[in-house]
Amino acid sequence: MKLATRTTKIAASPTLHMVATVKALKAQGETIFDFAAGEPAQHSPECVKQAALEAIQGNFTKYTAVTGIDDLKDAIIETFQRTHRLDYDRSKILVSCGAKHTLYNFTQAALEAGDEIIIPSPYWVSYPDQIALTGATSVILKTEEASHYAIDSALLDSLITPRTKAIMLNSPCNPTGSMYDQHTLECVAELALRHDLLVVSDEIYEHLVYDGHQHVSIASLGPDIAKRTLVVNGASKSYSMTGWRIGYAAGPKDLITAMGHIQSQSTSNPNSIAQKATVAALRDGQSFITNMRQELSAQRTLMVDRLNAIPGITCPMPRGAFYALPNVSALFGRRHAQGTITSPSDLAHYLLTEAKVACVAGEPFGAPEHIRLSYTPGLSVIEQGMDRLASAIQALE
Ligand code: PMP
Ligand code: GLU
Repeated sequence: MKLATRTTKIAASPTLHMVATVKALKAQGETIFDFAAGEPAQHSPECVKQAALEAIQGNFTKYTAVTGIDDLKDAIIETFQRTHRLDYDRSKILVSCGAKHTLYNFTQAALEAGDEIIIPSPYWVSYPDQIALTGATSVILKTEEASHYAIDSALLDSLITPRTKAIMLNSPCNPTGSMYDQHTLECVAELALRHDLLVVSDEIYEHLVYDGHQHVSIASLGPDIAKRTLVVNGASKSYSMTGWRIGYAAGPKDLITAMGHIQSQSTSNPNSIAQKATVAALRDGQSFITNMRQELSAQRTLMVDRLNAIPGITCPMPRGAFYALPNVSALFGRRHAQGTITSPSDLAHYLLTEAKVACVAGEPFGAPEHIRLSYTPGLSVIEQGMDRLASAIQALE
């Protein structure tokens, strides 16, 4: 069959592909130490489940307003007000089927062939492919491990051309765990204002920050930058609700309206029950986040310390999100019975087959010297998984 050319510009999500591979191996009875999945291990909060049950019992099971129910929009508006002192009205909020869908709606509504959008690398795997589907070009802004993946504003400035439409931010970042401080965000905001650019700020990990680091939303820096920023967020990570599929955006009314039109011709409204459940999460889920953050913080330290104790691996301490991104380039050239490790993909494959440890290779994140491990499983799984990983690496010649 001759498929549309756009299908050749993208691949299936490598993170979800790894998740599926691990699930298939587990279904065959294998024990896998799973550090691939980009989702918390906790069950969704009780208040969320209760609200969903009530929605079902109350027959809240029909189409809703395409862009989200008012109750949820109001809970989102209250949340922005509480966490960032940002004021939005309902016309500036769009609820979608996960933040991935929010971002897809954005790319479809804002980008077209000839446009450029600047993405700091390493980046989340779905950004370049969603952008590629529109015909626009991702312009990569390299950031360095040595400086905690900070944005160099002079470098950013040098990448801006008359075709630049937007800058993409993701803080805390998947996969690096880095966060942008207020000064960096002020520099980005100044450039966005000077060059008339949109900023897309993916803040889905905003509550998962450690060691006293504070998340700053670029939109909170002033009304001028707020007017040209699309803030993206969702229920998946903070409330461990990955399966419910609720994401949302707040931003300029014309952009939100256009994204809503795309949604209205593709998915219609997000799931009615999940919308009710997310109202409960936003209003009553704060203690859930506090507990999960504490657990993740201890898991993070254990994993990163264990990784750094392995000769050939170095791993900076992430500040937020729930991923470790060790540099494994010192292992390139080492051999095992089946071949030689020449890339993160080779290593990820070796670790899965030899150690039953699942991680995601760094290449599709723009991290060609790294692998990504989620520290979401509990402490004992991390201990055992790191033992296995260390032995497998020691066994390399
Ligand atoms: N942005 C980032 C940076 C992510 O890591 C994810 C995780 N999948 C998403 C957006 C999308 O999350 P979801 O679609 O589950 O809301
Ligand atoms: N964002 C998560 C990850 O990076 C979930 C999988 C996905 O949607 O890509 O692993």
